[in-house]
Amino acid sequence: MPLSQPTVFAAFEARFGRPPRWIVRAPGRVNLIGEHTDYNDGFVLPLAIDRAIWIALGPRDDRRVTVHSVDFHEDAEFVLDRLANEKAGWIEYLKGVAWSLQDAGHRLTGWDGVLQGDVPQGAGLSSSAALEVATARAFAASSGIDWAPHPMALLGQKAENRWVGVQCGIMDQLISAAGQADHAVLIDCRSLDTTPVPFPPGTAVVVLDTATRRGLVDSAYNERRARCESAARFFGVKALRDVDLAQFHARAADLDDTTRRRARHVITENQRTLEAVAAMRQSDPIALGSLMNQSHASLRDDYEVSSDALDAMVDSARAHPACYGARMTGAGFGGCAVALIERQAAEEFAATVAASYHQSTGRTPAVYVCRATNGAEAFEV
Ligand code: ADP
Ligand code: MG
Repeated sequence: MPLSQPTVFAAFEARFGRPPRWIVRAPGRVNLIGEHTDYNDGFVLPLAIDRAIWIALGPRDDRRVTVHSVDFHEDAEFVLDRLANEKAGWIEYLKGVAWSLQDAGHRLTGWDGVLQGDVPQGAGLSSSAALEVATARAFAASSGIDWAPHPMALLGQKAENRWVGVQCGIMDQLISAAGQADHAVLIDCRSLDTTPVPFPPGTAVVVLDTATRRGLVDSAYNERRARCESAARFFGVKALRDVDLAQFHARAADLDDTTRRRARHVITENQRTLEAVAAMRQSDPIALGSLMNQSHASLRDDYEVSSDALDAMVDSARAHPACYGARMTGAGFGGCAVALIERQAAEEFAATVAASYHQSTGRTPAVYVCRATNGAEAFEV
């Protein structure tokens, strides 16, 4: 059962002996297609999932924020006038958001809160972005700030980049803020325009965690980015987003083999992502699944960011008759795959794929059948 309002309501009452005034939630996410396109000003197509960070909170009349973490069994607090970065774990995400909101000129007031989540941590479903967006939503509710998904997502990203010190793009915070039930959201990473796209009826998205974690990812990531930048310079454009397939083929022979394959991935992936949007609008899960399969091949062969575990997981998923398509998702070298399947077969799919992946790799995966949900919400109690 996903976490729900009554659970965090009760946790707040148990901790503070009074009911909360507001309850907020912000979801985790998974990217359906559009991988390694974000830093090329391209397109991504994530969905907000039915696993979220929740905060129940009540106002204080001073500038102190006190938070009880149900999951860490810890209390922490800070004062809004004296924010200091102590690199001290989960509370830093809340402090970072307070810092970035205040830095943008928002007047914040203090609160008491209880924090609880069911986004698996460090599994590639972006629990950190969910925590940032939930915190922003909590401050917006308690401090009377109008909620607008785009600016708030940017302030959450700034907290992660500048306070926590993790260089992430905007996708995670933006989908957590702007998700829509039963839809994926096309994000144009240049304009930050968001367009909800409906899922074909009767389908489900399943996240398949390989139980492997990426190593050496920073240097590989930097190498990929540098190749993309040099390919963009070669084509005389700002970013690979500005190169279409015809332009690519006309001059690809003059690129070295590695740069050519890296650029080909990005250019074809942008196109696949737009084609995926069209397939969803036509309620065509077969076409959508096929694009996901092509995305995986491109990430594996051209971008070279898959792994044996990810390939094994994708194979296990595709072997099931209810699967329309599957691919690695996230930066790669480990982490999760994502599959599109027939919803009615979800339970059986999850069990069968987990068993077959275990048989081929010896590892025990985690499998999450997801529903696309709304982005961050606040409820006044
Ligand atoms: P992810 O891929 O899930 O975003 P990160 O390492 O970026 O992984 O973020 C995980 C961190 O976010 C945790 O170590 C913790 O500090 C914070 N966090 C995530 N979920 C919770 C939670 N339910 N309660 C408190 N802190 C959380
Ligand atoms: Mg994170």
